[in-house]
Amino acid sequence: MTPVRMCAGCRTRRSTSDLVRLRLQSDAHERLAVDTDGSLPGRSVYLCREHPEECAARAHRSRSIIRGLRMMEGGIPLESVLSALSHARSKEE
Ligand SMILES: [Zn+2]
Repeated sequence: MTPVRMCAGCRTRRSTSDLVRLRLQSDAHERLAVDTDGSLPGRSVYLCREHPEECAARAHRSRSIIRGLRMMEGGIPLESVLSALSHARSKEE
Protein backbone atom coordinates (compact mmCIF):
# COMPACT_ATOMS: atom_id res chain seq x y z
CA MET A 1 0.00 0.00 0.00
CA THR A 2 1.25 3.49 -0.83
CA PRO A 3 1.72 5.68 2.22
CA VAL A 4 -0.49 8.76 2.51
CA ARG A 5 0.82 12.15 3.54
CA MET A 6 -0.70 15.58 3.86
CA CYS A 7 0.29 18.47 1.62
CA ALA A 8 1.73 21.30 3.72
CA GLY A 9 0.02 23.85 1.47
CA CYS A 10 -3.59 22.84 0.81
CA ARG A 11 -3.71 20.09 3.48
CA THR A 12 -5.05 17.53 1.05
CA ARG A 13 -4.18 13.95 1.92
CA ARG A 14 -2.62 12.12 -1.03
CA SER A 15 -0.47 9.10 -1.65
CA THR A 16 3.22 9.97 -1.62
CA SER A 17 3.47 9.27 -5.36
CA ASP A 18 1.24 12.33 -5.91
CA LEU A 19 3.39 14.51 -3.69
CA VAL A 20 6.78 16.16 -3.91
CA ARG A 21 8.95 15.72 -0.86
CA LEU A 22 11.04 18.67 0.21
CA ARG A 23 13.85 17.81 2.52
CA LEU A 24 16.23 19.92 4.49
CA GLN A 25 19.81 18.86 3.94
CA SER A 26 21.74 19.26 7.12
CA ASP A 27 25.18 19.74 5.69
CA ALA A 28 27.24 22.83 6.38
CA HIS A 29 24.45 25.09 5.18
CA GLU A 30 20.86 24.18 5.75
CA ARG A 31 19.71 23.78 2.22
CA LEU A 32 16.38 22.71 0.83
CA ALA A 33 16.24 20.01 -1.81
CA VAL A 34 13.59 17.91 -3.47
CA ASP A 35 13.93 14.29 -2.48
CA THR A 36 13.18 12.45 -5.70
CA ASP A 37 13.23 8.83 -4.51
CA GLY A 38 11.67 9.58 -1.13
CA SER A 39 14.03 7.30 0.76
CA LEU A 40 16.23 9.79 2.53
CA PRO A 41 15.65 10.38 6.23
CA GLY A 42 15.27 13.79 7.77
CA ARG A 43 12.87 16.61 8.31
CA SER A 44 10.64 17.08 5.33
CA VAL A 45 7.39 18.46 4.05
CA TYR A 46 5.16 17.35 1.19
CA LEU A 47 3.58 19.41 -1.58
CA CYS A 48 1.13 18.44 -4.33
CA ARG A 49 2.96 17.23 -7.42
CA GLU A 50 0.27 18.77 -9.67
CA HIS A 51 0.97 22.32 -8.53
CA PRO A 52 3.87 22.39 -6.06
CA GLU A 53 4.58 26.11 -6.55
CA GLU A 54 1.04 27.04 -5.54
CA CYS A 55 1.10 24.81 -2.49
CA ALA A 56 4.60 26.02 -1.57
CA ALA A 57 3.32 29.59 -1.50
CA ARG A 58 0.39 28.58 0.69
CA ALA A 59 2.58 26.53 3.02
CA HIS A 60 4.99 29.42 3.26
CA ARG A 61 2.23 31.88 4.12
CA SER A 62 0.80 29.63 6.80
CA ARG A 63 4.33 28.83 8.05
CA SER A 64 3.73 25.11 7.80
CA ILE A 65 6.97 24.74 5.85
CA ILE A 66 8.87 26.19 8.77
CA ARG A 67 6.96 24.03 11.24
CA GLY A 68 7.35 20.90 9.11
CA LEU A 69 11.07 21.35 8.78
CA ARG A 70 11.37 22.54 12.38
CA MET A 71 13.28 25.59 11.29
CA MET A 72 13.80 28.80 13.08
CA GLU A 73 11.11 31.39 12.54
CA GLY A 74 11.56 33.04 9.16
CA GLY A 75 14.04 30.31 8.31
CA ILE A 76 13.53 29.98 4.61
CA PRO A 77 12.62 32.43 1.85
CA LEU A 78 9.92 31.34 -0.54
CA GLU A 79 12.35 31.85 -3.43
CA SER A 80 14.56 29.05 -2.05
CA VAL A 81 11.59 26.70 -2.00
CA LEU A 82 10.59 27.61 -5.55
CA SER A 83 14.11 27.29 -6.88
CA ALA A 84 14.48 23.82 -5.31
CA LEU A 85 11.23 22.83 -7.04
CA SER A 86 12.20 24.19 -10.44
CA HIS A 87 15.63 22.59 -10.15
CA ALA A 88 14.04 19.18 -9.53
CA ARG A 89 11.60 19.69 -12.36
CA SER A 90 14.34 20.51 -14.85
CA LYS A 91 16.13 17.29 -13.85
CA GLU A 92 13.03 15.23 -14.53
CA GLU A 93 12.57 16.52 -18.05
ZN1 LIG B 1 -1.34 20.90 -2.02
